[in-house]
Amino acid sequence: MPRLVFLGPPGSGKGTQAPALARELGVPHLSTGDILRAAVAARTPRGLEAEDHIRAGRLVPDPLVLGLLRERLAAPDARTGFLLDGYPRNLAQARALEGLARVDRVLSFELPEERLVERLAGRRICPACASVYNVATAPPRTPGRCDRDGAELVQRPDDRPEAVSKRLRVFAEETAPLLAHYRELGLLRAIDASGPPGTVAERLRREVADLIPATSSSPAPPRRAA
Ligand SMILES: [Zn+2]
Repeated sequence: MPRLVFLGPPGSGKGTQAPALARELGVPHLSTGDILRAAVAARTPRGLEAEDHIRAGRLVPDPLVLGLLRERLAAPDARTGFLLDGYPRNLAQARALEGLARVDRVLSFELPEERLVERLAGRRICPACASVYNVATAPPRTPGRCDRDGAELVQRPDDRPEAVSKRLRVFAEETAPLLAHYRELGLLRAIDASGPPGTVAERLRREVADLIPATSSSPAPPRRAA
């Protein structure tokens, strides 16, 4: 029963890897952004409460996010495990999560800062269809133009170099205690996030191979979280 947490700075490629690995493991890929959007769309009581905060331009408070996560983890498809992507982000959230579910392994995506800056600052978005390009690694056929509709590509303010450095600094500060915590628990595995996505996927698979449910002659019954 794989219960995984993906940790990684923006630009580390964890968002690319998460859906594929979750499919392979047969567990849902859970990001708090998706959970929030689904709850808002479903008009659940917590979803409506979250929507009030989002509409007012406020961060959704931690206890509400945790409540939504609790509901999501109780859904039938999460009985076989889960892959949490981008949560917890700090030590307080990690402790709160421990009250909800056991975590088997934490995969920390690691890439030198200059590579992260390069990936993030190279990102360009199509304002018409939301396609994502990268001037260095995935350029459009015509420079500055979307392949699908020819719209002029833009750089999100968040992806400008100064903003990128700040995002990476905030991430490092928030997650350092979190990494130390999971290391102490013996759950942390570092993933070298450099190289093509296929190579990173192979490294990931090696780190979770023992958690992939056995198809036959499994010696021990899966342990259930409380
Ligand atoms: Zn487009």
